[in-house]
Amino acid sequence: MKVLVLGSGVIGVTTAWYLAKAGNEVIVVDRLDTPATETSYANAGMLSFDYSTPWGAPGVPLKAIKWMMQDISPLYFDVKRFDASTISWMMKMLAQCSSEAFDVNKERMLRVARYSADCFRELNAELDLDYDVRMKGTLEVFRSQKELDGAASDVAILERCNVPHEMVDVQSCISHEPALANVKDKIVGGLYLPGDGTGDCHKFTNGLAQECRKLGVQFMMGTEIHSIETTKGKVSSLKTSAGELKADKYVIALGSYAPYLTRQIGINLPIYPLKGYSLTMPIIDESKAPVSTVMDQKYKVAVTRFDDRIRVGGIAEIANFNKELNPKRRGAIEFTVRDLFPGAGDVDGAEFWTGLRPMTPDSVPILGNTQYDNLVLNSGHGTLGWTMSLGASRYVADVVNGKSPDLNPEGLSMARYH
Ligand SMILES: Cc1cc2nc3c(=O)[nH]c(=O)nc-3n(C[C@H](O)[C@H](O)[C@H](O)COP(=O)(O)OP(=O)(O)OC[C@H]3O[C@@H](n4cnc5c(N)ncnc54)[C@H](O)[C@@H]3O)c2cc1C
Repeated sequence: MKVLVLGSGVIGVTTAWYLAKAGNEVIVVDRLDTPATETSYANAGMLSFDYSTPWGAPGVPLKAIKWMMQDISPLYFDVKRFDASTISWMMKMLAQCSSEAFDVNKERMLRVARYSADCFRELNAELDLDYDVRMKGTLEVFRSQKELDGAASDVAILERCNVPHEMVDVQSCISHEPALANVKDKIVGGLYLPGDGTGDCHKFTNGLAQECRKLGVQFMMGTEIHSIETTKGKVSSLKTSAGELKADKYVIALGSYAPYLTRQIGINLPIYPLKGYSLTMPIIDESKAPVSTVMDQKYKVAVTRFDDRIRVGGIAEIANFNKELNPKRRGAIEFTVRDLFPGAGDVDGAEFWTGLRPMTPDSVPILGNTQYDNLVLNSGHGTLGWTMSLGASRYVADVVNGKSPDLNPEGLSMARYH
């Protein structure tokens, strides 16, 4: 079977991998010159199989009001860029902030992420990809007793889902992350998740793209997709800058841009481009650097260790498709790395980057069949697209191939919005 994969971010490339492994003829189409150049370029680098948590949570609406008053905040609004789709998405997201919705969404995210963890284990055993991978867990650190007490609901869900975790005191935080000894008075404890990992998503995706090429996958880079053509309930072709392209099946892996194309054929994906930022810096003093991911719960900023670099990522900015590098946001994420890991990296020399998370209101990706017989979605992976990539893509490849999937599909398709 011939399959066209639309998009060469981490989601498109992992989809191509599983489709090619199953013996399909696969072509990946992307307007950019190299895979993983959009949102998959410089994300925070967390493989948060166990830390996966929805952003819509009880208390978030009130916290959002408080955050609006803070200089350093996890959330910013660029109100002048708001349009009807921004307001509509925000209303849908607010509706997901009840404890009932949070529990449902967290279970769905964890289900995909934990399946993905199995897929990463399998892939790491099969291929020797160089992507600075480390499997040393996530340590979420709390700066106040109130924050620490607030972790109780998360912990209850982790227990219910049998996710290995440990509430740890300051001394244990230091045993996991020795550099925190330098700032031990700033934290009161942590939540440690030993199953998580870290690595460089851009290196991972490009390494896997190479492996895909070995299996015969063709990459049509520099090719803009203008429209999806349909007839009699099926996709008939794509109109692109390289002419008309046809296949038996089509997979949408266009990140934040998916709604542009699907809207034309009546699929209104509730995906919003939630802007985030990262900094990547060389390590200057290894003894002061993290060994894995440290999540600053207060500011929702992750400080992640690569081999000889540190990545700091975070912030949710509601600014539509604007991708300007706002220097004030740089200051906000710099704060966490300077505060928790002073002297570890060359902060002034860091590469500053922004990307648009393809975010659904419930933080759960939209996977599987559509009303068109031969069109399948692998979209809306939001805050944790790399973490979920292999699991989501293996599931989607099974759907494309008409194979019974290993992942329970309950609540993952577009049907949950109808
Ligand atoms: C600051 C930040 C931190 C993050 N941290 C983490 C993290 O620690 N761990 C984690 O798991 N995830 C993280 N994420 C989320 C993760 O990066 C994304 O979910 C993931 O990269 C999405 O991948 P994608 O392939 O869907 O989209 P993309 O990587 O954006 O790929 C989509 C592709 O579609 C192409 N495209 C779009 N429209 C067209 C068109 N019309 N024609 C041709 N091509 C088109 C684009 O060029 C692009 O290459 C973070 C994101 C951000 C912004």
